Amino acid sequence: MKTTARGGGLETDPSPTRRASSGETGLLFALALAGIGLGVALGLPLVDGTIHEIHAPGGWTLFLGSVTGLVGTYFAMVMVLMASRLPLLERALGRGGVMGWHKNLSVLAISFILAHAVLTTVAYAQISKTGFSHEIGVLINTYPDMLTAFIALGLMLLIGLVSLPWLRRRLSRENWWLLHLLIYVSLVLSFAHELVLGPSFVNHPVAQWVWGLAWVLVGVAILVYRVCIPLLRSLRHGLRVVAVEPQSNGITKVLLEGQYLDDLRLQGGQFFEWRFLTRGRWWQAHPFSVVDLQGDVIRLMVKPVGDFSSNIAQLKVGTRVWFEGPYGNFTVARRARDRALLIAGGIGVTAIRGLLEDLPAGSRPALILRVTSKTDLMLVDELERLANERNGRVYILSGDRTSVDLRTIAGNIKDYRSRDIFISGSPGFVEAVRDVFLQLGVHRRQLHVEPYSI
Ligand SMILES: Cc1cc2nc3c(=O)[nH]c(=O)nc-3n(C[C@H](O)[C@H](O)[C@H](O)COP(=O)(O)OP(=O)(O)OC[C@H]3O[C@@H](n4cnc5c(N)ncnc54)[C@H](O)[C@@H]3O)c2cc1C
Repeated sequence: MKTTARGGGLETDPSPTRRASSGETGLLFALALAGIGLGVALGLPLVDGTIHEIHAPGGWTLFLGSVTGLVGTYFAMVMVLMASRLPLLERALGRGGVMGWHKNLSVLAISFILAHAVLTTVAYAQISKTGFSHEIGVLINTYPDMLTAFIALGLMLLIGLVSLPWLRRRLSRENWWLLHLLIYVSLVLSFAHELVLGPSFVNHPVAQWVWGLAWVLVGVAILVYRVCIPLLRSLRHGLRVVAVEPQSNGITKVLLEGQYLDDLRLQGGQFFEWRFLTRGRWWQAHPFSVVDLQGDVIRLMVKPVGDFSSNIAQLKVGTRVWFEGPYGNFTVARRARDRALLIAGGIGVTAIRGLLEDLPAGSRPALILRVTSKTDLMLVDELERLANERNGRVYILSGDRTSVDLRTIAGNIKDYRSRDIFISGSPGFVEAVRDVFLQLGVHRRQLHVEPYSI
């Protein structure tokens, strides 16, 4: 995240037209692939003979049961892929976008798979002229791999239940996260019954191979990007805590030192998932933006909000640190205009600091620091220096929510329509500022956000 003298091109180009970034190309490619996959999942039952179920006993109910099963499991596959940290997806959608898709697809997958279980059981009950609950017993006792399929469904429903907002609020984030991993157990348990009983797979060896291969590739992506690469990088760069300095405003500054950090190709505004290898904490990874990278030293600033972040101040010098990343597309690569308006709510300044450093000389950035009280301000001197070096300005907006109208941001920065607008901070703050600019008629693509929660 050194100042990138991208010079000429962007600075002198008066056109507000957006160039397609590599992230957007990647997104189009990923969407096209996902669309083709969905088309195949929907079209397969029409061409492989499953459609003939509508003329057999059970009729449409059985056919819809088959289709919902296939499509639901396809949604589950893409949902798992979204959690694989595939660089193409991370670059194109950013972490918030990827996790948004992961969440929405999980709702679709669970709903379709539940519909599949209900419809198929109803159809089989119609065929054998028995009741719904009696048919469940028959399916489990007489059909191959149905016991594991029912256990898989039970696990999936449990995850759906604990993810309902009123129940999720009662669980700690860590407990919910551990529970939600059962989805992987559920998908493994249900796999055999898909091949043995699914009409699109029985007597269709090509479909069986393609389906199996697709799942293997998704599994490999998870193993490579979530386990192998983070492990190898962590070992290679050998990061350790070299300083822990509580600040007067409750924030803790943490310095991490390692080796070959330039090789990470970190961009300003990006973050890592950090894992501090101490007894109680090693199993939790939390995202924190990199404030800056000086030589082989990374600076973090952490605000205490819960267990993990509050314990950061107790970290011992010498603690080993493992990490995943760098992640995030809240970087200058998103810029399509000469000028940028950077808006940080409280601790959101950590990502903005890195972004500002990557803006070219003469780019005249405008930076808004929004804080409840002036005592919450941080990094002001260096932000002013970085802004001045780029002929830009820093504005401070302090006061509680009742006394500060976020619309004054637009009032201060008259040319906001011709700037890329970057917003980071708490999800509530980011959403409120984004809404202000949308109401003012700013185009969605002009707004780039990094909410500090996923
Ligand atoms: C991209 C990004 C960059 C961030 N950068 C910084 C930073 O530079 N400095 C800083 O102080 N904070 C930063 N945060 C916020 C920080 O990750 C959370 O405050 C921290 O993880 C809270 O954990 P906790 O156990 O202390 O609190 P909890 O009580 O567990 O969580 C408090 C809130 O933080 C969010 N959160 C908790 N764990 C995670 C997680 N693993 N992933 C995503 N969100 C989580 C949840 O919304 C939760 O409601 C960033 C968050 C994101 C998503």
